[in-house]
Amino acid sequence: MASSALQDATKDIIEWGKAAEKTASPRPKATDIFGSLTFNDEVQRRRLPRDVYKALRRTMTHGEPLDASAADIIASAMKDWAFEHGATHYTHWFQPMTGITAEKHDSFIVPSTDGGRAVAEFSGKELIKGEPDASSFPSGGMRSTFEARGYTAWDPTSPPWLLTSQNGTTLVIPTAFLSWTGEALDKKTPLLRSIEALSKQAIRILRLFGSRAERVGTTCGPEQEYFLIDRNFYFARPDLINAGRTLFGARPPKGQELEDQYFGAIPDRVLAFMHDVETELYKVGVPVKTRHNEVAPSQYELAPIFENANVATDHQMMTMETMKRIAPKYGLACLMHEKPFAGVNGSGKHLNWSMSDDLGNNLFSPGDTPHENIQFLVFCTAMLRAVNKWQGLLRMSIASAGNDHRLGANEAPPAIISVFLGDMLTDIFEQIEKGGAKRTKSGGILDTGVSVLPKLPRDAGDRNRTSPLAFTGNKFEFRAVSANQSIAFPNIAMNVAMTEALDYLATELEKAVRSKKTLDQAVKDLLPKMINENKRIIFNGNNYADAWRKDASKRGLLNHTNTVDALPELTKPEVVRIFEKYKVLNARELHARYDVAVETYVKTVNVEAQLMVLMANRYILPAALKYQKDVAESVAAVRNVGGSVKEAKRMLDRLSSLVDDLRQRTDRLANALDEHAPSAEKHAKYMRDTIVPAMNALRETGDQIELMVPHELWPLPTYREMLFIK
Ligand code: ADP
Ligand code: MG
Repeated sequence: MASSALQDATKDIIEWGKAAEKTASPRPKATDIFGSLTFNDEVQRRRLPRDVYKALRRTMTHGEPLDASAADIIASAMKDWAFEHGATHYTHWFQPMTGITAEKHDSFIVPSTDGGRAVAEFSGKELIKGEPDASSFPSGGMRSTFEARGYTAWDPTSPPWLLTSQNGTTLVIPTAFLSWTGEALDKKTPLLRSIEALSKQAIRILRLFGSRAERVGTTCGPEQEYFLIDRNFYFARPDLINAGRTLFGARPPKGQELEDQYFGAIPDRVLAFMHDVETELYKVGVPVKTRHNEVAPSQYELAPIFENANVATDHQMMTMETMKRIAPKYGLACLMHEKPFAGVNGSGKHLNWSMSDDLGNNLFSPGDTPHENIQFLVFCTAMLRAVNKWQGLLRMSIASAGNDHRLGANEAPPAIISVFLGDMLTDIFEQIEKGGAKRTKSGGILDTGVSVLPKLPRDAGDRNRTSPLAFTGNKFEFRAVSANQSIAFPNIAMNVAMTEALDYLATELEKAVRSKKTLDQAVKDLLPKMINENKRIIFNGNNYADAWRKDASKRGLLNHTNTVDALPELTKPEVVRIFEKYKVLNARELHARYDVAVETYVKTVNVEAQLMVLMANRYILPAALKYQKDVAESVAAVRNVGGSVKEAKRMLDRLSSLVDDLRQRTDRLANALDEHAPSAEKHAKYMRDTIVPAMNALRETGDQIELMVPHELWPLPTYREMLFIK
């Protein structure tokens, strides 16, 4: 069977190559197609009356409400534009508390009042508010099914786009998703609220430095890692189809990663996939630039140019959806799981995160003048406090059953949150703590004339690939985020943590300035204390080393090694307090999210465990029994003619003992799955402490059997096949 998947894959690859040669056409120029399927600024300007256009811009940049008549005009222009591009339907697209996006399609067509005919209609009311039947989306108990009403509210700050397929075109309208009581049921609502909150506090700091900026936003550039394997292999593996990762599979022998280097260039089919993804994403306005140099065989990366956090989050979801949708066209399957293959590098999503004001200044850019330098150091200090004080929240924001396989393994940042600042910045912070920086580490001369603080070089550029959160010159890179997750919540967590820290610093600095201190002096007095309080979070060494775990524990840093331990951070009183204070999520909304996360963990592990039982019983055991019989027959036959059966008999014994183990371990797992804990939390702990170890034990036996059973009897595509044939 495995060999039939292998034959199919090989045949497909060859045929694909032939067909590709015949149909090759030049790629459209990015500049010609970029945004061609979005209702973007240019289209808005062209199609909307001036005053309506202006009102919409104000809504987008300053969050001013849009009045009903303007909404009507926008809706009508949007409909005309979509119609001209062949759209027949529209959908309010939203991001419920699960990992995915949701959409409900409605037709533009309504029966005309004169009867018998149909006209296209789309009113401001329909644009602004939709009402999907929300009963099947998780609400964490906030909404029972009898009051299933959920509303989708148009987000005018993220441009609508057209989803095209062979059979039709749909206008997709990014929306927030709320309950009828106004509670957030999605990821966008708290993200937008957190950006507002951060802006307010950041502006207080900027004001002190004399800035005229009115708003501050966060910018994000999420780098997506993923695997591509041949679709034939994917369909031959129930675990990949239903769990997104392999639950069995003997690891390839060591050294295979070198072999991938040997194969070198990207296979044509993969390259064609990448080009197609790029083209489709360009059309809907996602500014991607592909890269393809990942560590593991068959692993790739795609990175966009950064955008404001809200649009970047929508675009990230669109990117993942587009990649998954397009892969089958090339006979491929796109795997976004954090750890599709045990023993092979996993996939992360590095969330590059920064803050910039509405005048276009990146607040984490060291700048050219000492004045900008101090401001930069104030923001960096705030970041230290944010990460140190709210490390639990940040850890929680990336917790999932999938990421548990990655965090703490020797390839991804560990479960301990810390910040990498680089030697130069760390040195400056150390000097400030001791009472004023005198020089930079590189030996450069300080600008001492204006300020006690050093003039910083623009690129503070050293790198660290092991840190969960690294400063990379003019932004922070949250590297522990997982490949499969929406970037919304890690973003929200960073925003809220930073909001609290900025609030604290602004309050202290404002107080000092009110008492007639100069700003320079106020900063000079405050920073050493702040650095002293928060410096334990700085770590520039090797985060993968065991020594760091010990050091971190001495420093009192949290080390939640698994999701079940990390999730309760979300509902800790101090976390609830800041989320409520900055009006991002209230206690009820937070508890709902916690409940959904716990439930998701339980469900994920449960699905995986059920699949393992199925695969053990219906794939692995039959193959093992068949081979056992073959060997037994061979032993009997050889013995019959008086040959030596010592080794063959030993093999048979080993196989028989593995078969016994497999049976026992499968039963143990199946029986354990019948138990039910009295509460969701207890159930999650039970999954972690009983089910996951039982799964690991079963896998161990299954993988040992795989290494014994001949290729043609093995019913599943192997790691070697999946990772190296494409
Ligand atoms: P690196 O060399 O660190 O990988 P790049 O400039 O290639 O740096 O950027 C990596 C990612 O970081 C890209 O997705 C990019 O858009 C994003 N990025 C760059 N600057 C910022 C910023 N100011 N805010 C958010 N993301 C950024
Ligand atoms: Mg990177």
